[in-house]
Amino acid sequence: MIYPVTEESLRLAAAAIRAGELAAFPTETVYGLGGDAFNPRALAKIFQVKGRPRFDPLIVHIARLESLEDVADLSALGPQAREHAARLAAEFWPGPLTLVLPKRASVPDLATSGLATVAVRFPSHPAARELIRLSTGAVAAPSANRFGCLSPTRAEHVAEQLGDRLGIILDGGPAAVGVESTVLDMTAARPRILRPGGLSRARLEALLGPLPGPGETPGELCSPGELRSPGLLPGHYAPRTPLCLHGRREMAALPYREDEAYLFFSRSSRESWGMPGAVEVLSDAGDSVEAAANLFDALHRLDRLGLRRIHAEAAPPELLGEAINDRLGRAAAGVLKPALP
Ligand code: AMP
Ligand code: MG
Repeated sequence: MIYPVTEESLRLAAAAIRAGELAAFPTETVYGLGGDAFNPRALAKIFQVKGRPRFDPLIVHIARLESLEDVADLSALGPQAREHAARLAAEFWPGPLTLVLPKRASVPDLATSGLATVAVRFPSHPAARELIRLSTGAVAAPSANRFGCLSPTRAEHVAEQLGDRLGIILDGGPAAVGVESTVLDMTAARPRILRPGGLSRARLEALLGPLPGPGETPGELCSPGELRSPGLLPGHYAPRTPLCLHGRREMAALPYREDEAYLFFSRSSRESWGMPGAVEVLSDAGDSVEAAANLFDALHRLDRLGLRRIHAEAAPPELLGEAINDRLGRAAAGVLKPALP
């Protein structure tokens, strides 16, 4: 059931999480499916409800900086990584940045898929922060969708995918950032981006200097033996409708078909194509921050039309364009069908 965010609904959701149940809640990135990060039974429910394979670790959400040491052991980092982690937290938390850090034993292995590291984020959405504070101070929360499917940026998206398996969905309106957090590994020799997301590479590099990212070390990040970050799998974030990704010029040259849909990055790209039909524009002005906020909502709308194919235009790679292209690229790889846990 969907409840607007109020003091009362926050208390109801917090009580559910304290009791080992789950609740979906708004964050600034996408809606989360939350459970007590310290309770293995709650964690097992998260995997079950999402149909998420257990090799894909969860992000633990905190709502005060002091809670970081409850879940992560910063003393196990080298001095420079420790200093970087402290500066990143001071600069970008609360916000769309997830840090991968050495894990404390208090966090069950199920949360981290047996890894010695834990992914931690401090979200900025007031309802998320209040819910975390009122419940257990550390809430494991992947996106509140079925594994591999489009991410939810509205409460209705959650209800569509998980409404039959979930008692509480808090509605805090559309997600402001609209793409998942940037995941930064602090345990490698140098920090590196495992997943581009709502905090741009440029802002991280202004603080840390040039960073290696998925584009530069693909083999290493997703080798068959060791999945450094399982969220990097292709075939994620996928609509049911097959999706093709195109460059701007390729997109402008597409023939119009009434049984296909078209997702443009900017108004000017849409106008250079000029046809009628099932069309969405991510940002009139071609602003990647606005485009990211609209991305999943536009994909949900096009997907609901049940057409033959969605053609999507890649974003210019600057700022949040990297995250947008990452999501569209995985969507184009189709839905991955893992064995259910
Ligand atoms: P989601 O919760 O669906 O946004 O996905 C969480 C993302 O964080 C996935 O890409 C995970 O693979 C990644 N992640 C979570 N924990 C770790 C970890 N300990 N090491 C590396 N990546 C992680
Ligand atoms: Mg997800």
